[in-house]
Amino acid sequence: MNGKIYLVGFGPGAEEHMSFKAKAAIAESDVVIGYTTYIKLVKDLLDGKEVVRKGMTEEIDRCVEAYEQAQQGKIVALISSGDIGVYGMAGPTYEVLLQAGWKPSDDIQVEIVPGSTALSTCASLVGAPLTHDFCSISLSDLLTPWPVIARRVDAAGHADFVIALYNPKSGRRTQQIVEAQKILLRYRRPDTPVAIVKSAYRRRQNIQLVRLDEMSDCDIGMLTTVLIGNSSTFIKEGLMITPRGYANKYSSLTGATKDGEQAGISLSMGLDGWYACLRQYVEDNPGLTLEKIAEYFGVVIGEVLNAIAAGESAGEHKAVRIQSEKLNDVVKSCEQWGRLRGIVRAEAGAVTELFLQAQDFQLRGDWLNIETEAFHCHVNWSKVDSAYLACRKDKSYGVNFIDNKGHLVFRLLITKQDGAFSTDKLEAYAQAWQALAEKNDD
Ligand code: SAH
Repeated sequence: MNGKIYLVGFGPGAEEHMSFKAKAAIAESDVVIGYTTYIKLVKDLLDGKEVVRKGMTEEIDRCVEAYEQAQQGKIVALISSGDIGVYGMAGPTYEVLLQAGWKPSDDIQVEIVPGSTALSTCASLVGAPLTHDFCSISLSDLLTPWPVIARRVDAAGHADFVIALYNPKSGRRTQQIVEAQKILLRYRRPDTPVAIVKSAYRRRQNIQLVRLDEMSDCDIGMLTTVLIGNSSTFIKEGLMITPRGYANKYSSLTGATKDGEQAGISLSMGLDGWYACLRQYVEDNPGLTLEKIAEYFGVVIGEVLNAIAAGESAGEHKAVRIQSEKLNDVVKSCEQWGRLRGIVRAEAGAVTELFLQAQDFQLRGDWLNIETEAFHCHVNWSKVDSAYLACRKDKSYGVNFIDNKGHLVFRLLITKQDGAFSTDKLEAYAQAWQALAEKNDD
């Protein structure tokens, strides 16, 4: 008889939360291999079976053992809690097998039996915290470098995901949760709800509902999963809830059309409609800079410019996109605009304003160099992907150079004389607009 390997996730621990298939796979197996604690959790199902207990750090041994036993024609169940594919043994087992030359078409079959993973079982005990986009991050730095983990925590915080932290803390790893909290507090309110669920559906089950700024002081261990709410998660009557939609919270983002939303149809703030919503917002709220609009919608400047350029105008703002092939034409046009204000924004917040003439520009290789008595400015021109002529009536007229991620590389604005824009300059700007926009059409 051919051997078989079942990779079984048995859920959180309690037998009633195990799938039929998981039980059947264990029942069918001759050998059950697992970490000592897991074996204890399924002990009632093990009568008459060969049981191989392994310690925490013997993961690869467990995979090799499973393969060797299957090669002897046995049916082997390699078991793990939750879902075996989530921070579990499914990956290492396939890696070991493939390295040993095994192929899916071989006589030894491998079947994965999925189980309820900790994030869903823990969520079920505290309410409905995962009803909107979420992600899971393991804080274990045993196999993952800390900068990678920190970057993911940061990205998840920035992107407003609900976050499930696996492996949040152990006897030796006590500071990772403190660091994660610090990173998240840059993006989330201190009173953001956090659920700390220990040993879900096991004997020592324990649940704490706390605030993000209290999180790292709480009782957290190896058997704990931490669920951190997004910006709209709330706690009511002891339940942690993440609303299904953002539209209610951000009614202003959907503008006046909110009443017109239709069931089964994307929001007016959906992919097709949101440019129009942005323009409407800009029209309804005069006095906003491009930066302020980008901040309000949580998008990059390039997207704001795309949205404005997609319509005739947006209140006092107008924009037109210039393709990358025409970047040099834009620079040429600037030469007609006289004294210019160059704006360079550092990511961390500093804004540099430089007064210059387009005649000072020198394109050398990848760099646009502007060298005057007062300053040297070097713009990495190879990063510039597109340009937008953009103006705000009576406030600013200029061009924005944007990189392929939509970030502003460099901005040039025409300058006022004696508190006003000269008609000549506005005329030259309008001409450039017409010429470049026309060329855009072909
Ligand atoms: N394969 C497992 C995860 C293994 S990683 C799954 O899908 O759930 C181990 C981590 O899972 C623990 O550190 C803890 O964060 C989480 N975890 C596993 N079982 C849990 C339980 N019953 N209650 C709370 N957290 C649990």
